[in-house]
Amino acid sequence: MKSSIRLGRVFGIPISLHLTFILFVAFLGMVYAFQGGAKAAITGVSFILALFLSVTLHELGHSLVARRFGIKVRGIVLLPIGGVSQMEEMPRKPSQEFLVAVAGPATSIVLGLLLGGASLLLYGPEATFKTTLTGGLFLPNIARVNLLLAIFNLLPGFPMDGGRIFRSALARGMSFERATVIAAAVGRVFAIGLGLVGLFTNIWLVFIAVFIYFGASAEANQVKIRSALHDVPVTRVMATAFETLDPDDRLGTAVEHAYRGIQEDFPVVLDGKLVGVLMKQDILAALHEYGPGALVGRVMRREFTTVTTDQTLEQVYGAIQACRCTSLPVLEAGRVVGVVTLEALGRYLAYAGAGSGAGGT
Ligand SMILES: [Zn+2]
Repeated sequence: MKSSIRLGRVFGIPISLHLTFILFVAFLGMVYAFQGGAKAAITGVSFILALFLSVTLHELGHSLVARRFGIKVRGIVLLPIGGVSQMEEMPRKPSQEFLVAVAGPATSIVLGLLLGGASLLLYGPEATFKTTLTGGLFLPNIARVNLLLAIFNLLPGFPMDGGRIFRSALARGMSFERATVIAAAVGRVFAIGLGLVGLFTNIWLVFIAVFIYFGASAEANQVKIRSALHDVPVTRVMATAFETLDPDDRLGTAVEHAYRGIQEDFPVVLDGKLVGVLMKQDILAALHEYGPGALVGRVMRREFTTVTTDQTLEQVYGAIQACRCTSLPVLEAGRVVGVVTLEALGRYLAYAGAGSGAGGT
């Protein structure tokens, strides 16, 4: 079951809407309609859509700068709480991290100023500066939202962009890991403060505070994992003994392999060339729908992610998270030479983590 819907590509970067975002817009539309009728619902929903267009442009700012530094961007996902740029790895050089982080808020500021300028020309200064976020004119409101987006994201704690900017400054004088711990702690302190303010003012602030608190912890965890996987070649953990399927194989063949515990995700190969993948969940869904006699070529995924033998486990981790799959085929000179699984990454983390204690090298 896919949790997001692909909208299309901008500058080659796939943009998708998370299902929760669609539910969120539908929910808001209903609330607006209930309170103010159809017209209010249309205005309200188009405002939310304009807001998310703003978030998309903000994320594109990050993604395009990251791509300039050779970082592969798997896509941008829009969630009700904002956007996420899925990068295969994080820039490690403080100067690059700084530029990638600052690109988002900078985009929002430029957008805010442009839209604000347009509003000044169209409506004059009074209407532009007087309107509030609820009610008032569309254009100055969107301008204001973009500026707020920039200011909020410049707060110096994780998971905000400001946290990255802060970390890149700290990382000049200490290790990347230590800098992350500090920037995450600032993010959590900020979240607790915001939550307390929210309790007495606006319950939405509490909701945002919870998101920031867990986002800060998640960032710290991500860095721990990425640090452990950084510089480790994929060949270290990939399985080289694996089964492949032919598009003309029956689904039952995959099931037989799965019964024997060999593997549950399969590369599908035709004339030595990878033409698809068949994941455990695809097999189960297809069995239910077509039975074991169905052809693999009919039910396999034709759009899939691969990695190459010269990539690192950090890159594999980024790719596997972005595609939400449980394994990836590993290619060398266009041929499948191995399979790397999420389980193998977990195994590596467990053993390497255990070995890095006292007595480790
Ligand atoms: Zn950002």
